Amino acid sequence: MTIDEAPRDVLRGGPRELLRWVATGAAVSRADLSRLSGLSPSTVSQRVEALISQGLLEETGAGRSRGGRRPRQLAVPTGGAVVGAIDLGAHHARVGTLDLSGRVVQARTLPVRIEDGPEAVLGALLAEVTTLVGGDPAAGGGAVADGSAADALRGIGIGIPGPVQHSTGRIVSPSRMPGWNGFDAAAFCAGRVDVPVIVDNDANLMALGAHRTAHSELDHAVYIKAGTGIGSGVISSGRLHRGAQGSAGDISHCRVVADPAPPCTCGNAGCLEAVASGAALVTALRGQGVQVSDLTGVIRLIDDGDRQATALARQAGRAVGEILAVVVNFFNPQVVAIGGRLADCEPLLASMRATLYERCLPLATQTLLIERVAAGQDVGITGAAHLVIDHVVAAA
Ligand SMILES: [Zn+2]
Repeated sequence: MTIDEAPRDVLRGGPRELLRWVATGAAVSRADLSRLSGLSPSTVSQRVEALISQGLLEETGAGRSRGGRRPRQLAVPTGGAVVGAIDLGAHHARVGTLDLSGRVVQARTLPVRIEDGPEAVLGALLAEVTTLVGGDPAAGGGAVADGSAADALRGIGIGIPGPVQHSTGRIVSPSRMPGWNGFDAAAFCAGRVDVPVIVDNDANLMALGAHRTAHSELDHAVYIKAGTGIGSGVISSGRLHRGAQGSAGDISHCRVVADPAPPCTCGNAGCLEAVASGAALVTALRGQGVQVSDLTGVIRLIDDGDRQATALARQAGRAVGEILAVVVNFFNPQVVAIGGRLADCEPLLASMRATLYERCLPLATQTLLIERVAAGQDVGITGAAHLVIDHVVAAA
């Protein structure tokens, strides 16, 4: 499903922003919205009516009168309109429901065996979303039988840890996802639920979630997701930049300096993913004779100050910094933020930062913010929810 986002300059006072002001309590009336947006009362009224007719806003009783007729108050429906969100990882998935302002209503983490294939994995996760909607009293809980819970669910956003062709929702040549190549995730999901389903790459969703949660005032941002795999999402002029096919920001197979250059799942050697991803660190440590089963084990070794693991983390940080320096010189973002499980790995972060300063033009780094993604484990489902909310609002 293609989502056309409005350019930044027409977003001020756009339906999405009006909805957000009401959801966050910044506005309770049309007059508030008019004041905040600078739009005329008639334009605000028109947009509010459209949002009400779509069930995205409701009018609740009356506000305080200042003489004359008491103004009607606006609110985001509490009758349970929610969006479902799935953030699929290599071994776990975060599944949740969020309200129309993008706040998490319910969320849980489930173990996932990605090698079970797309039908089994996505089928189970979609069922989990349905359970969350049905089981939540605020979202029409217990009302599945009469259909009101289904009414409460407005759409589902799904993040996939691999390249997703944006126009079709098809997964293309993912690493470490046997059986998923070419899978039409959007069509599969659309055949199982009765609401819009939007599929995107997990790094894009992290970028969107992080940008909306913090720094939504900044127009140009790059978000690195460093976990089992490694990727990035780009915000340009306030919008998620996907490029022509949806592969923008996919830095995983950019070549870095490494001797010897480790082989990559793509068939080349010396790719960023083969040097700096969590999976690469596990492989490299095992190659050095260290018994480590997964990324959690690697992070534990680094936290314990293990010499080999720390050296590999520094090397990974330099490799990420090398690629990021090219991106920063080329794109000139205001903020670069790193998220994913490796973001808490101090030696990696320190050498990434040092390489970035060393390799970038002073003009590009003068005011550049370099930081961790602060939004925590729900950042992916938050981004997924915003993707759906934007779609629902655009349809309104
Ligand atoms: Zn590669």
